[in-house]
Amino acid sequence: MRPYASVEVDAKRLAHELRGVVEGEVRFRPGDRALYATGGSNYRQIPIGVVIPRTIDDVVATVAACREHDAPVVSLGGHTSLAGQGANVAVVIDFSKYLNEIVELDAQRKLARVQPGVVLDSLRHTAEREHGLTFGPDPSTHTHCTFGGMIGNNSCGVHSVMTQFYGPGPTTADQVEELEVLTYRGERLRVGRGEATLPPHLRDPLVALRDRVGDEVRRRYPRIPRRISGYNLNELLPENGFNVAAALTGTESTCVTILDATVRLVDSPPVRSLLALGYVDAPTAGDHVPAVLEHKPIGLEGMDEKLAQDMTLVGLHEEDLSMLPEGAGWLLVEFGGETKEEADEKARALMADLKKAGGGLRGMKLYDDPEQEGHLWQVREAGLGATAYIPGKADTYEGWEDSAVPPDRVGEYLRELQKLASKFGYESALYGHYGQGCIHARWNFDLKTAEGIKTFRRFIEESADLVLSFGGSLSGEHGDGQSRAELLPKMFGDDLVEAFREFKSVWDPDWKMNPGKIVDPYAITENLRLGTDYDPPSVQTHFAYPDDHGSFAHAAVRCVGIGNCRRLEAEGEVMCPSYMVTREEKHATRGRARLLFEMLQGNPVEGMWRNEEVFEALDLCLSCKGCTNDCPVSVDMPTLKAEFLAHHYEGRLRPRHAYAFGLIDQGARVASRAPRLVNFLVRTPPFSGALKLAAGMAPQRSFPEFAPVTFTRWFRERGGSLNPNGQKILLWPDTFTNHFHPEIGIAAVEVLEYAGYRVELPEARVCCGRPLYDYGMLDLARRYLERTLDDLRDEIRAGTPIVGVEPSCLAVFKDELPKMLPHDEDAGRLRKQVFHFAEFLDREEYEPPPLARKALLHGHCHHKATGGIGAEQRLLERMGLDVEAPDSGCCGMAGSFGFEAAKYDVSMACGERVLLPKVREASTDTIVVADGFSCRTQIEQGGTNRRALHLAQALKLAYDYGPAGPSDEPPEAAADAALDGGRPGLLTVAVLGGALALGAGGLALSRRART
Ligand SMILES: Cc1cc2nc3c(=O)[nH]c(=O)nc-3n(C[C@H](O)[C@H](O)[C@H](O)COP(=O)(O)OP(=O)(O)OC[C@H]3O[C@@H](n4cnc5c(N)ncnc54)[C@H](O)[C@@H]3O)c2cc1C
Ligand code: SF4
Ligand code: SF4
Repeated sequence: MRPYASVEVDAKRLAHELRGVVEGEVRFRPGDRALYATGGSNYRQIPIGVVIPRTIDDVVATVAACREHDAPVVSLGGHTSLAGQGANVAVVIDFSKYLNEIVELDAQRKLARVQPGVVLDSLRHTAEREHGLTFGPDPSTHTHCTFGGMIGNNSCGVHSVMTQFYGPGPTTADQVEELEVLTYRGERLRVGRGEATLPPHLRDPLVALRDRVGDEVRRRYPRIPRRISGYNLNELLPENGFNVAAALTGTESTCVTILDATVRLVDSPPVRSLLALGYVDAPTAGDHVPAVLEHKPIGLEGMDEKLAQDMTLVGLHEEDLSMLPEGAGWLLVEFGGETKEEADEKARALMADLKKAGGGLRGMKLYDDPEQEGHLWQVREAGLGATAYIPGKADTYEGWEDSAVPPDRVGEYLRELQKLASKFGYESALYGHYGQGCIHARWNFDLKTAEGIKTFRRFIEESADLVLSFGGSLSGEHGDGQSRAELLPKMFGDDLVEAFREFKSVWDPDWKMNPGKIVDPYAITENLRLGTDYDPPSVQTHFAYPDDHGSFAHAAVRCVGIGNCRRLEAEGEVMCPSYMVTREEKHATRGRARLLFEMLQGNPVEGMWRNEEVFEALDLCLSCKGCTNDCPVSVDMPTLKAEFLAHHYEGRLRPRHAYAFGLIDQGARVASRAPRLVNFLVRTPPFSGALKLAAGMAPQRSFPEFAPVTFTRWFRERGGSLNPNGQKILLWPDTFTNHFHPEIGIAAVEVLEYAGYRVELPEARVCCGRPLYDYGMLDLARRYLERTLDDLRDEIRAGTPIVGVEPSCLAVFKDELPKMLPHDEDAGRLRKQVFHFAEFLDREEYEPPPLARKALLHGHCHHKATGGIGAEQRLLERMGLDVEAPDSGCCGMAGSFGFEAAKYDVSMACGERVLLPKVREASTDTIVVADGFSCRTQIEQGGTNRRALHLAQALKLAYDYGPAGPSDEPPEAAADAALDGGRPGLLTVAVLGGALALGAGGLALSRRART
């Protein structure tokens, strides 16, 4: 019988006791546990409970309490592991939220001491910025993987080649100097190199084990850069200095809990050059790896044509792919140097050698733009995301995704692996760390039927035989976990596997550390997340889920667990603001997706749509659409959240803020009949307090002020368009512009007219229904869309461009509409003819007026998700503005999210991450540009003493005041002056003049809008 740990634990008592001794969080509810059931793997095991320790003492206390209850433990960082090593029926200790301090950075000795929850990039960025140092092995998950996890898995990365040639070696084990570890029995010790670091009861059995199996280790361990499978018993050999820290690296939480790690840093080449080599095919590219390695690059990656094709099919990096040289298989080679010349010179030397050698080389390209180089690295890193869900093809999975061979046999291995896969009818792109022989793949296994699972297993067995016949390793970086552990006897033989068992027993004689992984493992086909029992209920949905075969269940299983949504910085994107400020798995896109998957499983997460834990996780989602764009597999959480809320509240009353904010268009219409009275009430205590309470609004927030005259009324009273002979466009008078910021609508009309267009507004009173989605009022949202289509049908069919100034409203037509009404032809047409304001002007090659000063640009998340803010930035730059677009992600207001009392703190934390400090720092003559109503409100109410302008207002300022702009500081005061009906701007005069010259002003006067 396998010595699995007993899992009969009195979880209630254990939780109670943990709460008494742990300062951090102790979570044992079904949803809390289910959140940690899978990570990035194919497996699913529901933990006993979760502890999020605040201090190292908490960790010690947790393990002690678990010991009292015989409960197994498993530690976690980013939980991005692919082999199932993070999933277990155990108490999970999640280090990532609090234990993430860089304890010490000794630049002189090139050492860093870190807590296990430190994210790799946090250390890299600090070390790089302050000391020109870096940590070599960098997994593709470097923005969110942790040192605990990297040491747990013995991670490697693109720059493992650098530490192979210029540092201590390719793997994390090579960089680990010392570890502080805790055993299950409560012993806490520092381990490093040499027998003296261990007490006799640990040292003696390890020395005996080493002496007994040393020769077998020397004989059977492949001498390749990426032998990640198995325990590092080789590190105990005398020639390796009895390096206990390195031997414990890669043990995947099966031996000890790591409390603290001292790791080595290496010099980071200040300048890097990227060379891309195109070959006739990927195996030929693989054949040339040894020739390239002779030139000692710092990175050597490879990819095949299929990866490029898959990316094109899913619409990823299309532009970037065109930067690759001719070929159907590529090597990306990076060189480092003190100067650009030095790095380029190394690349040129390689190019010269390769030119002479020929042999299938099709093209070479040495890049000289760091931005381009960055894009190409993104192409390579996007591998998993690009290959998971390819339209028209079966879903793909990990399972045989990181095998490694000697680098001089990569080409041969690629050919054979391809042949083997074809025999099984499997296909996958083959890419990865060619320079170290490690090949990534994602195969179209069938993991839902008995036959499919049998075939999957046979393939894994035969692939293992293949890689071993090349003298390779089952895992070349992701570890053994459960995916490969059962195959270890093939690779190492029974004696060494017995030695692994003994090694584990020395550290964990009770067999409670992550049992069933690496040694005496669960079978490869046990605990599958899908498996033959996978049978989620099919549910009636409001959205059509066109990218998920119409299935909510597929949309909920879509997340592949990479964890990019756990990044701590926006990195030029948006995802995922709620995680960035809470560092909570359940507030990351992945956590939410996992809980929806679990909700459909029904055990332990019960109650389907009424489940309160699922509600809690979704409730803090800002529906910013960051994930729809930034998640590599486009998990669409705003849609899933809206769907969930619609069902959650079916037949029940919603909380009062849902009506107050969700139906804002209707409330605003009533309020704008007496805007002054309403403004008085919402601004004056005690009425304002009572109204905030009634609306469920945060007391710290103020109600936005209603404009004395709506935009539509202004337009009607003005007599409609002043440019009757121009090309007709329809301007969308969204609720926010219409009732709160008509000055933006006015500016947009004037700018568009100046640009030569005849601006008209819809005849009917319209609303896209944006806020309804935030509260799951989807029946009503559908009716709004249907009404819009009815109202605009003639214009839609006439092909009239529809331009909007409020990005979130336009996003309804670009994003929600096709998901709601996928088969409606007019909906399809409308989607194609709606434009964000800047998008339209940019597309029409509009020449903006000059304005000389600084601009701080913050893009609305929905704008970024539906086309991006590139057009906006281009226009501002073409005006001559000195534009700064900080990495501000989501402002935190996100529609009405930031107004809700319960969300205020998270909302402000999102704003304070980057945006609000940046606005405060901006000089008083800088124009702050933000097109979104909510972003402007956040800036205005976020203690900045500034108000942001819409792009249309910035353009109007340039027209009104000329290239020097207004002398008022801050410049938004000048925008107010124009609104207050002060002097008519030059733009108005110019437009009026133009219109009069055309003798057409009168024509437009008869046009009437209904509002
Ligand atoms: C898309 C994708 C790309 C990847 N690319 C790479 C790559 O290029 N190179 C690479 O090496 N890996 C890669 N991985 C795998 C994985 O991301 C890395 O191995 C990463 O270093 C794991 O870090 P983590 O914080 O997520 O660890 P986790 O998954 O949380 O943990 C990893 C292991 O370490 C153990 N562990 C965590 N903390 C502790 C602790 N305090 N004490 C003891 N044990 C602990 C865990 O129990 C687990 O067994 C990739 C994964 C994905 C999904
Ligand atoms: S939601 Fe997207 S980014 Fe986050 S883990 Fe899932 S697949 Fe990765
Ligand atoms: S919509 Fe925004 S907040 Fe919600 S999960 Fe996606 S990225 Fe996170």
